[in-house]
Amino acid sequence: MNKIAHYLQNHLRGEVMDSKDARIYFSNDNSILTLTPTIVAYPKNENDVRKAARFSWQLAERGRLLPITSRGSGTDQTGAAIGSGLVLVFPAHMNQLVELDAKTGFVTVEPGINYGKLQQSLKTHGLFLPAYPASLEYSTIGGAIGNNAGGEKSVKYGDTRESVKSLRVVLANGEVIETKPLNKRELKNKLGLTTFEGEIYRAMDTLMEENRELIKNTQLAVSRNGAGYDIKDIVTKKGFDLTPLFVGSQGTLGIITEATMSAINHNESTSLTVGFFDGLGELQEAINELKKLPESPSEIEIVDEQFLNMVNKINPNLLKDVLPDVLPKFILFVEFDNSNERNRRKLMKKASKIFSKYAASNQMENNQDKMENIWKIRNASSVILNHVDGNTRPLPLLEDGIVPVERLADYVDKLYQIFNKNHVEIAIWGHAGEGNLHIQPFLDLAVVGDRQKVFRMMDEYYPMIIEMGGSTSSSYNDGRLRSLYLEKLYGKDAYELMVRVKNIFDPHNILNPGVKVNTNVEDVKNMLRQEYVRGFNNFLPKS
Ligand SMILES: Cc1cc2nc3c(=O)[nH]c(=O)nc-3n(C[C@H](O)[C@H](O)[C@H](O)COP(=O)(O)OP(=O)(O)OC[C@H]3O[C@@H](n4cnc5c(N)ncnc54)[C@H](O)[C@@H]3O)c2cc1C
Repeated sequence: MNKIAHYLQNHLRGEVMDSKDARIYFSNDNSILTLTPTIVAYPKNENDVRKAARFSWQLAERGRLLPITSRGSGTDQTGAAIGSGLVLVFPAHMNQLVELDAKTGFVTVEPGINYGKLQQSLKTHGLFLPAYPASLEYSTIGGAIGNNAGGEKSVKYGDTRESVKSLRVVLANGEVIETKPLNKRELKNKLGLTTFEGEIYRAMDTLMEENRELIKNTQLAVSRNGAGYDIKDIVTKKGFDLTPLFVGSQGTLGIITEATMSAINHNESTSLTVGFFDGLGELQEAINELKKLPESPSEIEIVDEQFLNMVNKINPNLLKDVLPDVLPKFILFVEFDNSNERNRRKLMKKASKIFSKYAASNQMENNQDKMENIWKIRNASSVILNHVDGNTRPLPLLEDGIVPVERLADYVDKLYQIFNKNHVEIAIWGHAGEGNLHIQPFLDLAVVGDRQKVFRMMDEYYPMIIEMGGSTSSSYNDGRLRSLYLEKLYGKDAYELMVRVKNIFDPHNILNPGVKVNTNVEDVKNMLRQEYVRGFNNFLPKS
């Protein structure tokens, strides 16, 4: 065991490993990148995390860098759950539900708790966390907070940031802080602290004060935005709050050791209406009108014809009885979850009226079994994600762009152009009601031409999204891949502000360096895997 690993083993209660097997096991997440850590540890408790951070800080003061990467289940698709130094793996021990108040819906958890299991527990109390990612069965709450995850229900309920109320965070130097909205008096107390926490509050307070206009301009015209640091929500009517900043910061500003979130009422009864479209223009009109309904649908999802063809080719029997004989160009799924059945029916009628105007045909369902049958179509994205065609696999490199929803048709059109030009087969699916689509091109990373295509297509795709007024990431976050486009997205001044934020929290660049800001394109190219294999061990869910 190397000296540092040995030191950590003697000082932490959790396990510390530096064997080749352990390091290789944690050298991948679910991205196309790879990076081998020098040490892996399973912290037993917050004190272990504090000690590890403190140790790394002291090393850095002596000129030696031991980067720290926090890791949940490693389902991250951006290269943010891999690191070259110490990887702290939370699900092993720090995985408890600490407290649940079923009356208020407030739930306090450790970061390594499995999201799916927590959701199950909440549902037994009639509650749920609505911004769950499609990967919830395999991933952790810490990862969802790290990425500011969102999903199918985000069109109505927003992203993870909206449910996180307070956090316990270990800072880069090992100090522990608690974040929550602070009133003026509480902020003043923080500003007076002589600790690193005090330093951070003073620097952030000045930064917020001096850059009001610039910060306001980081607001993009999209419903969800995971790109960069959320500086615009620190100062609000509720007070001064660092919580939104940590959410979505991918372990680059601090290490979360506990989170209090607010779960909301869950209604199991839903209704579904489906529209089959032949043209992009009609699809866009329908979505525009759906967005004006008096209550938002709880889901507005889409798949395209290429998606249906691909699923039919891979598994001809799966959708045999659910699809029409002539495949439409697009299928739009619209779900309502209002707990009052009469209200739900009213909303369904309104949606069906919209479909009658624009769709070639449509179908309304209230029956649970029939609805499940129809959802099989949308959920078939897992069939595509698990497919291996020769040596090619679907690769997560362009899967999370988001544009203003009124530009969805334009966006889809441009996507087809990019992929036709690059002779790459794609299928489109995703959250149409937010202008957020998933596309995973089939490529073989062992082939030089395909490796070049990875960066060529990213260089065509992300600037296109930015030009359309969109964001490079809705919820899967920047990581190492998309952070390359952050400066282009926000402009030089706002980007530099984000770099300043990073420097305030992490002056020695210990916390997940190379993620979110200061990412070097050549470093990323060198991390590209030779062969893509998933970085976690379960069968892929839909996305
Ligand atoms: C098939 C598939 C579908 C997906 N669908 C969605 C989706 O619908 N929506 C979505 O948002 N994402 C989705 N993802 C991406 C990813 O699964 C989610 O964002 C998930 O929430 C990550 O959780 P994890 O436990 O795997 O985190 P990890 O991958 O381990 O980490 C994610 C990030 O969080 C940071 N982090 C983890 N723990 C901590 C901590 N304690 N303190 C600070 N930072 C921490 C990590 O450093 C990393 O930057 C999908 C991925 C796959 C493979």
